[in-house]
Amino acid sequence: MITVVGNGRDKFTEYGYQKATEAVKSIIDSNPNEEIASGDSPMKGIDYLAKTLTPPERYMNRPPNYATCNVGFERFRERNLQLAESRIVYVIVSDNYPPEYKGERFLYCYHCLKMNRNASNHCKSGACWTAMMAIEKGNKAIWIIIPNKEVKI
Ligand SMILES: [Zn+2]
Repeated sequence: MITVVGNGRDKFTEYGYQKATEAVKSIIDSNPNEEIASGDSPMKGIDYLAKTLTPPERYMNRPPNYATCNVGFERFRERNLQLAESRIVYVIVSDNYPPEYKGERFLYCYHCLKMNRNASNHCKSGACWTAMMAIEKGNKAIWIIIPNKEVKI
């Protein structure tokens, strides 16, 4: 099983979302014999792409636990730990917040900072925490940074 997680839809521009879609498709297509798991995030984004682009028989849904009385991150913790059991965790994140982004903007990703990884080249994501847990468990994590702005050459 491999996991495909990352930023919510609101952290991508139209251009970035298109690039993210291509990245998710390419992971699914290049691992034809593998189950693809994702977290069914209410923020849509990468989780939504993984869920809708993976053939249903290969898709493993790992939704947050809404039944818990815990709020915030605790709802996602158990789910993220399950996802961290995957052979590879792909983290697909945008390189910068879109101008119209309404949520909190972090100067760096505090999860990646803890891992001594580049923490300022992408938008903070709970997916990075999942990847950190995967690495701790001896599994692999791969980050894919999606440009939100078209780079003209
Ligand atoms: Zn990060």
